[in-house]
Amino acid sequence: MNIVIFGPPGAGKGTQSKYIVEKFNLFQLSTGELLREEITKNTKLGQEISSIINTGNLVSNEIVGNLIEKYLSDEKFKNRLIFDGYPRNLTQAKSLNEVLKKNDQKIDIALKLTVSLETIKKRISDRKNLENRKDDNEKTAIKRFETYENNIKPVIDFYKQSNLLKVIDGEGSVSEICDEISDIIKRIKGWLWEIRQYKCDGNTNSLIYGSYCRDKHSTE
Ligand code: AMP
Repeated sequence: MNIVIFGPPGAGKGTQSKYIVEKFNLFQLSTGELLREEITKNTKLGQEISSIINTGNLVSNEIVGNLIEKYLSDEKFKNRLIFDGYPRNLTQAKSLNEVLKKNDQKIDIALKLTVSLETIKKRISDRKNLENRKDDNEKTAIKRFETYENNIKPVIDFYKQSNLLKVIDGEGSVSEICDEISDIIKRIKGWLWEIRQYKCDGNTNSLIYGSYCRDKHSTE
């Protein structure tokens, strides 16, 4: 099972991803973290990334695409990824689908966390004290919120059209949100598993038999 989680900065994507990873034995792929790792290395690319992140804008699709590429073709992560903060625009969403398809995978759920700007400002100021991220100041937070809003609508529509979108109220407590997400994942896992059982045990001549059975173990 591969999951996408998105929401504005401070919505709790990272926190929730970490819980989901533990609960469902998945791997978190956070593009924000990969970018910050690159900054820590202090390479030329890292410096370029730093200057973009600090303004609250998006890093180029090419840079982010290159950073995640190797994880998508790695058997270790196959059908076990939670994409935290990726995709952030329609180009990334389409490109993710294509690369996954090439690697015989797909997205199974797209989780959208909704949070108001007021809550975000509060959470980011709390996080600033804990994590000391350079982009966690109010001015950059507002810019990042606007960047998110300006780019995310087509991504929402993209996943809505594929019937993968689940909207979650991100204003609740960490554990409330976690429970809600867990229920969604369990339901979808059970549903996928049932279909696959049926296809695998019931109709072996089905055209989709092959791919259902191939995926069966990776989603259990
Ligand atoms: P995050 O940790 O997800 O809040 O991301 C921090 C910053 O990294 C964002 O404000 C963007 O500047 C950059 N970033 C993270 N993920 C992406 C992405 N998928 N595409 C472009 N920029 C990204």
